[in-house]
Parts: sequence; structure tokens; C-alpha cells
Amino acid sequence: MNLLDPKLLSESDHRSIQRAHDWAVQYVAERAETWEAERRFASEAFKSAGEHRLTGLLVPTADLGEELSLTGLARTLEEIASVDFAVAFTLVCHNNLAGAVARNAGEHLRSNFLPGLVDGSSLGAFLLTEPDVGSDAAAISVRAAQDGDEWILNGVKSWVTNGTEADVLSVYAQTDEALGHKGIATFLFEADRPGVIRTPPYELLGGHGLGANSIKFDNCRLPQEALFMEAGEGFHAAMEGIDIARVLVSAMCCGMLRTSLETATTYVKDRKAFGGRLADLQSIRFQLADVATDLEASRLLTFQAAKIAQEGLDASIAAAHAKKFCTRVTEKGIATCMQVMGANGAKRDHALPRHLAASRLTHYVDGATEIQDVVISRSLLD
Ligand SMILES: Cc1cc2nc3c(=O)[nH]c(=O)nc-3n(C[C@H](O)[C@H](O)[C@H](O)COP(=O)(O)OP(=O)(O)OC[C@H]3O[C@@H](n4cnc5c(N)ncnc54)[C@H](O)[C@@H]3O)c2cc1C
Repeated sequence: MNLLDPKLLSESDHRSIQRAHDWAVQYVAERAETWEAERRFASEAFKSAGEHRLTGLLVPTADLGEELSLTGLARTLEEIASVDFAVAFTLVCHNNLAGAVARNAGEHLRSNFLPGLVDGSSLGAFLLTEPDVGSDAAAISVRAAQDGDEWILNGVKSWVTNGTEADVLSVYAQTDEALGHKGIATFLFEADRPGVIRTPPYELLGGHGLGANSIKFDNCRLPQEALFMEAGEGFHAAMEGIDIARVLVSAMCCGMLRTSLETATTYVKDRKAFGGRLADLQSIRFQLADVATDLEASRLLTFQAAKIAQEGLDASIAAAHAKKFCTRVTEKGIATCMQVMGANGAKRDHALPRHLAASRLTHYVDGATEIQDVVISRSLLD
């Protein structure tokens, strides 16, 4: 079966992919370097994404969302990341949260938060990682203590995508250390509550448009209704979505690598050296042929994992293969594309330097590369 067969996608998927493509090319492309140069969250992009119906992609149509299939979502994000990874990742984090609220929240949280998340008038963020805890997520130490009919949150979360401007926070917190991961619950609440303290955005090698920062909770009081997932369900929910998140990172890598290959092939066909085109030198041809093979393999692994997950089957190994492979070949492939363009490859008048920096970040998000090897080797050896 052709995993890239357009017939695997619904009408709604096709419309969203086209809308995302047009929006990214017409709106994001000309602004992406500015967000990077100003080292700030791409707030205009998020507002505009809402107007283009890109903020409720996983929410059912009954709740006014787009109800995309996973394959449709992956293709949609591939299109956006082909122009800018940071904006695509902002939308991944936001859309995953909106989808989780639609699926899992009770009536109070749904009516308070879902309409704003879907139409893009509120920006969502997912807070699991902490300054001292990343891969070993079960060890988080942000503490939620019950006080009568309220909860009190204390501790620090780090690497919060969208954190500098988020309106709605989904926070994983430990309610009882003795229970380990079974004590982890999730809270959903407004980011402007007393006791929520944000740092400025991180200074990174790239990807500033996604607005990553740290958020401290200093005796932040929450009503009982802010409990989104009870102790025991919180950790399970965070891990449940991880395979899908890995598929989406893989799809975003495909987008960046595709743009890099297109940019390099256009350049070498035009550039003259030693009496001919760069494109006529065998070394250049073969380097780009290798990138094309890696892109083809990336797309097949990505959409195979997407299809498995979409069918409700266990996609953990397929997603781990896809994420490990795609992130590796994307960073290497973008560098190759920049190399065949000579020094002009390093100039910021095209997207490749921005994509190269972002490709480094893809190695960490949603499970570092070595964690994919933990999953794959377990399936081989345990
Ligand atoms: C751009 C960006 C955006 C992010 N956005 C979010 C967000 O919105 N919300 C959120 O909660 N988090 C977010 N994160 C954090 C991300 O999920 C973590 O970076 C990731 O979980 C890895 O944790 P760590 O960076 O602390 O690395 P660590 O866990 O400290 O790992 C350090 C190194 O050790 C390796 N390692 C760890 N455990 C093992 C093992 N068992 N076997 C072999 N090697 C191992 C790792 O692979 C890594 O190379 C973001 C990160 C980035 C870079």
C-alpha cells in the first residue's frame, strides 16, 4: 500500500493541509526571520492561525474543531514546518492540549476552556518537564497539596513551549510522593492566577518563535474544579499521547528537509562553476541524491507510524523508529544542502540556517533520541 496515497486522507484533512500550506507560505514565511531576530514568541502567527482554523485540529466538529485524522494532522504540520518549525511546534502543543480537553475534560473545564482553545483566542501550554527532571518524567517534583476544597501548587516547570504568552496551563504535579508516578495528577487553569510567575524566554540556538521559558508556582491556589486528571491518570495521559507526538515531530522534520532539498536543488541548477552548473558535478548530485533518499525514507517511516496509531494499534516502536531516523537525517541533510550551496548556504536570506538550528531542537522534544533507542532496544532484547 502507498502510505502517501492521498486517498488515505479525508476531505477535511485535504482542506486543512491546503489551508496550512497557503497560510505558511503567504503569512509565516515573510515573518519567521523577524521572530527569530527579535527572539520572541510568534504571537501574530498564533492569532493568525486561529483565524485560519488551525487551532482546533484535533477537536471534534461537534465542538467546532476540524477533527483531523492523525495522518491529516501530520501532513498539516509538515506543511507549516516546511516554512517554520517554531510556529509548527507552537501549534502542536496547543492543538494537543485542545484535543485532550475535548476528549477528557469534565463539563466545567470544557465549557471554560475549550471554545477559546478551539478558536485561538486562548493559547495553551503543556507543563511536564522541570529544571531537574526531563526524560525520567515520573520523578517530577512540582507539588500539589490539598487544602480543604482547594489545591496549592509549588515548584518550577521548565521548557514550557508557548510559556511566555500562554493563557491556559496544563500542569503535571505530584500529589503524593509515596505513590510515585501513580501520584501524578494534571491541573488545567488560567495562567494569570496569583502565584504563577513566568521567566522571560530562553536564549536558544534557534526556535525562539515557540516562546519557551520556565514557570514557577509560588503557593498558587487552585479550585477543586481545576483538577483535569486525577492522581494516577495524569502520568498515564502524558505517556498516552507520546507516540502521536513523536509522529508529529517526524512529520515536521520531513517538512524542513523537503524545503532544504528544494532550496539546494534550485540553487545548484542555477549556479555556475568551472564552465558548467554546480548541478553537473557528480559529488553535488550524489550528495543531494542521498538527501532525497533520506527524505523518502523519513516520509515512509512517519506515515507508517501515523497509520498504525490512527488504526488504534500500538505505534510505540514505529514512532520511535520514525523519530530517531527523521531527526538524525534532517539535521545531517540540512547541513548537506547548505554545503552544496557554498557560503551562500549559511546566509539568512533563505530558511536553511533557521531549519538547521530547529533540527537540533527536534532531538530533545517528545523524548530524546536515546529514549527512542530505549524503546527500540527493549523490543529487541527484553
Ligand atoms: C524546544 C523544546 C521545547 C520543549 N517543550 C516542552 C513543553 O512544551 N513541555 C514540556 O514538558 N517539555 C518540553 N520540552 C522538554 C523536553 O521534553 C525534554 O527536553 C526531554 O524530555 C528530555 O529531557 P532533558 O532535556 O531534561 O534531558 P535529560 O533527561 O536530562 O537527558 C540528558 C541526556 O541523557 C539521555 N538519557 C536520559 N535518560 C536515558 C536513558 N534511560 N538511557 C539512555 N540515555 C538517556 C538523554 O537522551 C539526553 O541525551 C521541550 C524541549 C525543547 C528543546
